[in-house]
Amino acid sequence: MLRMVLKAPRTTLLAEVCPDPEPAHGELRLRVRACGVCRTDLHVVDGELPPRRASVVPGHEIVGVVDAIGAGVTGVAIGERRGAPWLGGSCGVCRYCREGQENLCDDPEFTGWTRDGGYADTVIARAEFTFPLPAGISDLEAAPLLCAGLIGFRAWRMACEGRKVERLGLYGFGAAAHLLAQLAIHQGQAVHAFTRNGDGAAQALARDLGCVWAGGSDARPPEELDAAIIFAPVGGLAPLALAAVRKGGIVVCGGIHMSDIPSFPYALLWGERRLVSVANLTRQDARDYLPLAAAAGVRAQVRSYPLSAANAALDDLRRGAFVGAAVLVP
Ligand SMILES: [Zn+2]
Ligand SMILES: [Zn+2]
Repeated sequence: MLRMVLKAPRTTLLAEVCPDPEPAHGELRLRVRACGVCRTDLHVVDGELPPRRASVVPGHEIVGVVDAIGAGVTGVAIGERRGAPWLGGSCGVCRYCREGQENLCDDPEFTGWTRDGGYADTVIARAEFTFPLPAGISDLEAAPLLCAGLIGFRAWRMACEGRKVERLGLYGFGAAAHLLAQLAIHQGQAVHAFTRNGDGAAQALARDLGCVWAGGSDARPPEELDAAIIFAPVGGLAPLALAAVRKGGIVVCGGIHMSDIPSFPYALLWGERRLVSVANLTRQDARDYLPLAAAAGVRAQVRSYPLSAANAALDDLRRGAFVGAAVLVP
């Protein structure tokens, strides 16, 4: 197999050829057809998520075809297309796992961080943490759904829980926001897209997708928002988003890593506004989201790179050199 390996934080990934791994009990081997490039991969490569092992293959938006099945796995067939997301395993016994919050598991496994991920032509995954993918969505378009789509969906469900959301703000209009915008618009919400100041390409994409407003992140939207979700890893957006939401509104931080949130006047939080984070995903999120995204016609805008160009894809993501989502193809 060919894989792109991170040997130490803040170094470039190295291409390595090694024998195909064999799936252990409860695992599958997938031939990777496409793997999305997520901002979390940048946090792994840059060491903002500290290394959990001596070296790791990043990548957790994996679309592959089952080509070997370990002992004890049922309900999966050779040749089946499946997706493997960020949550690569949970312990099943901690209080969070027992209470339906495996996203908060005390002893979790994460694809492309604690386990080798999909920047490779072959990957081993725990079978119970992979999902069949809806037909009619190409491998390239399906890959970003597995994290950008899923995490966006989890953040959105949290934003809509317990309040009527007609006007939604999305801060950082990259892979996650461009997918969530499609779903939210399909559900009748008026989506307001906040981008880096002067990012005309992202604002144009937002308008093309049907957002009612697009502007720089420090602009005040034309109307008060019911809820806002921050996808950019920029803590300074939190007070801006709080200032844009109505009383009883909510701001959900959707990233795994964020720069420090600056201090802000209590008045921004007053009026039962809430500032919360969303962490990881549960398998139920995936079961709920994938059919919903397919039915709503959610389609990723994709820029594809050959697997060997993984470093270039990461650099382009860091620089904001493309709109939509980057996907590696072995
Ligand atoms: Zn657990
Ligand atoms: Zn991700």
